[in-house]
Amino acid sequence: MDHNVSRAQLLRGDLSGEKTVFRPPWALAEIEFIEQCTGCGDCIAICPDTLIIQGRGKLPQMDFTRGGCDFCGDCLTACEPAALKLDSEQASPPWDIKATIQPNCLSMNAVICRSCGEVCDERAIRFKLEVGGVATPLLDLDQCTGCGACFAVCPIRAVTLSSINEPRDQAA
Ligand code: SF4
Ligand code: SF4
Ligand code: SF4
Repeated sequence: MDHNVSRAQLLRGDLSGEKTVFRPPWALAEIEFIEQCTGCGDCIAICPDTLIIQGRGKLPQMDFTRGGCDFCGDCLTACEPAALKLDSEQASPPWDIKATIQPNCLSMNAVICRSCGEVCDERAIRFKLEVGGVATPLLDLDQCTGCGACFAVCPIRAVTLSSINEPRDQAA
């Protein structure tokens, strides 16, 4: 196996069976990221919502349990080694993360809850009234920026986040 690929997999947890980590927004592709990131921690220190934590190998990763990213760009500006880098070709949002609502969602099981929809600034989650009076969530992936706000507020972790370019779904 290619040395760089195996190191990238190790740092993301793929070889250990642990959940994949999500790098801060605007991160280079994983192999380039681990080469470029010095682990300086400047992005961690500057994030106003303390969403970035130090992970394996001192590399930064998102902790969506703390809330959603509003793409303020402070981490991008702070990253002098350019491991976080604005790509003029890159469409908004600056990563390929998307949310998924799992079948254990309270609303899908006749318990009223609209927490995810209430925090979604993109209005990517709408509730459809079902027979019996409980509304179930519908997620519009085109609108979803992968900000993670819905993951943070779901009381039963029925929201998962995954990278659409990853080979398999991962919970954050
Ligand atoms: S864009 Fe802003 S809120 Fe999001 S991780 Fe970076 S510093 Fe934090
Ligand atoms: S500011 Fe850049 S180089 Fe420093 S830890 Fe964050 S991503 Fe890595
Ligand atoms: S991750 Fe997507 S669905 Fe969830 S709050 Fe953010 S934009 Fe809305």
